[in-house]
Amino acid sequence: MFGQIKCFDVVIIGAGLAGLQCAKLLSQRGAKILLVDRKIDLTKGIHTTGIFVRKTLEDFDFPAGTLGKPVRNVTLYSPKLKPINLESEKDEFRVGKMGKLYGNLLRECIASGVEFANETRYISTEINESENIVKLKKSGKDWEVKAKVLVGADGAQSHVAEDLNLDENKEWIVGYEEVYQNAFSIDEPRLHCFLDAKLAPGYLAWITNDGEEIHIGVGGYAEKFNPREALKEFKVKTADKIVDLSRMKLTETRGGKIPVGGVLRKIANENGLLIGDAAGAVSPLTAGGLDPCLRLSKFASEIIWKRLETKNPKVLLDYSGEFFRARFVSRLWMRRLIALISNQTLLEFGFSFMRGRIGKKFARHVFFGRGSFPDVEIQIAKVEKSFNNSILS
Ligand SMILES: Cc1cc2nc3c(=O)[nH]c(=O)nc-3n(C[C@H](O)[C@H](O)[C@H](O)COP(=O)(O)OP(=O)(O)OC[C@H]3O[C@@H](n4cnc5c(N)ncnc54)[C@H](O)[C@@H]3O)c2cc1C
Repeated sequence: MFGQIKCFDVVIIGAGLAGLQCAKLLSQRGAKILLVDRKIDLTKGIHTTGIFVRKTLEDFDFPAGTLGKPVRNVTLYSPKLKPINLESEKDEFRVGKMGKLYGNLLRECIASGVEFANETRYISTEINESENIVKLKKSGKDWEVKAKVLVGADGAQSHVAEDLNLDENKEWIVGYEEVYQNAFSIDEPRLHCFLDAKLAPGYLAWITNDGEEIHIGVGGYAEKFNPREALKEFKVKTADKIVDLSRMKLTETRGGKIPVGGVLRKIANENGLLIGDAAGAVSPLTAGGLDPCLRLSKFASEIIWKRLETKNPKVLLDYSGEFFRARFVSRLWMRRLIALISNQTLLEFGFSFMRGRIGKKFARHVFFGRGSFPDVEIQIAKVEKSFNNSILS
């Protein structure tokens, strides 16, 4: 592997949900793919809670055993712990067993011909006659491969975005959580969300209990709190009143940055493109990024396939974040508003509005509204049409 320079149609940096989905779709069509990740084992070091929303569960297939039990109930709490209970007739959320899910997706990729380089770090890329010379490092040794298309699926702080001169994420929140095996709690599955300007400035603290696992976490603007200290305080002050952790086994801690500035504008050039967190494809309001990973990777795989079929690098320019930004305008404004609320009293006051009829309707819309990343099928059809027109003219 370290000798002669190998050529791939596509090199994908990052085997999170976005990279795995893109590799799977392209390899199933016959593209020659190298999937690279710095991790030794994808089932370890997971950083997401893994909550999938109803629309994702309806639109995508999940392998057996990769999802927890359905959750239909949400309780939203004010800083003074006044609750609003929301109940849905439908299964609204399921917490993914992310290690198993990544492992399954990787096996599917390998079965359809993807080469996987684990424990391999992306270093840089150089453009040579419209091909990328991608520099990687494995076990201290440098290694180069050629790629017609380079895909940045390397997460919120994408090194590929920087090297390809594409847009980069600039606004973040951070999330930090503990995961417990739920051997004792017999409570019905429920998502508890807490508004608290001190413990979760600009976002939420949460307890998800799907009857199998319990995730207890805090999220907010990094410059306004210390996530580890906030989680400690949250557990003592609040979480212990809701779940009895004393007999439960702590199995993991998870955490990371979440981009909340909306989909980036320039996410492609003739040499490559970005997907998932690297493209800023996260809801600025809910900070959900798993649904966007699946949908944007589908769009990316269509465009890349067209690029490979036509041998025309310009085709990649049809992959633009502008298509999706309009959908996020109101959510971006709400994020700006939330970021401004740093006062507990103001938050408590805002919460009293949520307890009214209109407020509750709004809360139901946020939690149960079938919101997702825009449907990429429409964009795929548009690109297909403009491509066919350009051939005819
Ligand atoms: C604490 C937390 C909780 C969250 N909870 C939810 C939730 O419940 N529901 C939801 O919808 N969203 C949630 N999100 C957001 C969601 O997890 C992300 O949007 C999503 O996982 C992004 O996937 P990705 O594939 O783009 O990136 P990642 O999952 O970050 O994958 C990037 C991969 O690239 C690899 N990589 C990075 N740099 C290099 C390099 N130089 N060389 C080689 N490999 C590299 C990394 O090892 C990693 O495997 C949460 C985020 C956090 C931080």
